Amino acid sequence: MLYYMPTKLFYGKDCIFLNKEELILGEKAIIVTGKNSAKITGALDDVIKVLKEFDIPYIHYDGIGENPTYEMVMTGKEIAIKNECDFVIAIGGGSPMDAGKAIAVLTANPELTPDDLFDMNNYDVALPIVAIPTTSGTGSEVTPFAVLTKPNGRKTGFKSELIFPDVSYLDPKYMIKMNKNLTLTTAVDALSHSIEGILSKKSTIMSDMLAKESIRLIYEYLPKALEDLENVEYREKLAIASTLAGMVIAQTGTILPHSLGYRITIHKEIRHGQATAIFLPLVAEEVDKYSPEKTKIIKDVYGTLDNFFKFLKDLGVYNFSITFSNEELELFTKEVMSSSHIKNTPGFYDEKKIKDMYTKITKI
Ligand code: NAP
Ligand code: FE
Repeated sequence: MLYYMPTKLFYGKDCIFLNKEELILGEKAIIVTGKNSAKITGALDDVIKVLKEFDIPYIHYDGIGENPTYEMVMTGKEIAIKNECDFVIAIGGGSPMDAGKAIAVLTANPELTPDDLFDMNNYDVALPIVAIPTTSGTGSEVTPFAVLTKPNGRKTGFKSELIFPDVSYLDPKYMIKMNKNLTLTTAVDALSHSIEGILSKKSTIMSDMLAKESIRLIYEYLPKALEDLENVEYREKLAIASTLAGMVIAQTGTILPHSLGYRITIHKEIRHGQATAIFLPLVAEEVDKYSPEKTKIIKDVYGTLDNFFKFLKDLGVYNFSITFSNEELELFTKEVMSSSHIKNTPGFYDEKKIKDMYTKITKI
């Protein structure tokens, strides 16, 4: 058995200022962000203050949108190479953090294209990475994964130990600006990571312990946080739950709900966490038939799998309406059946079962 998570994680209010020298991982930084959140949360200002204090030059690339594309990371690579940046500071939700990871590998290996990232044998160096989350959902600040959207529209993750951030700062004050919908959709991404980690064929005692605490924290604090969005204590609990969940998938990877959800995000524009969480009860029910010992932790917290479904429903996770054409069902099913996620999901899955899962969520 192995537990591996090499990121130095600082957490708590003002953790950047309290550990500012740890931010300096090179001589010139590329700061990778989306358009607004790094600014409105104050995280960008905090980083710039520290860089100025240490006389470290930087270039700010704010071109990362949701579900980052090849084009976005290639632009980042070109900027980093042109400006001779030797470390990456990624600030934002999972999208800028994942893009920052891709840029760290591409810049250190200028001959590579984004397609090459998916085979970790293609590279053995990356620029050092600092990750500063402003959402509490993906756990990307402690994972060896980055998810990109390919030119054909297929959302796919790559994995390499080189993209574990070297340093992460988890400060709940950056999260209080998230509105209700973003709070919910990101928190249920974290919940998906913990639940999938438990259900995964790759679960371990260590990952289960982390997952259990993460599930418990989300059960207790997500409903409270949704009623009191600026409460830093609730934000802190959800941030820790999300990072714990990241530490879970760093060991286990994600399973079927993530693969099912990627199609819904790209083709139906439902945010990642929500698109994934809607499938959790369906997959848990299926796993329960084959490996009931795996669903025990869910039942310990929620009582029954039905209560777990009700928890998600009451939070508003199923508040959408969605339909699929036959072509979409064929495409999604083909993509899910060929994804790595399905191999690590206990149970038996064929095309019919996958199509049924998509059809079921149109009727909830
Ligand atoms: P995101 O795509 O990074 O951001 C979603 C939206 O939230 C953006 O409009 C962003 O604005 C805004 N935002 C971010 N922080 C905010 C804040 N504090 N207040 C207000 N608005 C804020 O969302 P995410 O859910 O964190 O990341 C999802 C991505 O991560 C997906 O691509 C998913 O596949 C991936 N993911 C990665 C892992 C991993 O291990 N690497 C795991 C799970 C998911 P700006 O554009 O202005 O920043
Ligand atoms: Fe996720």
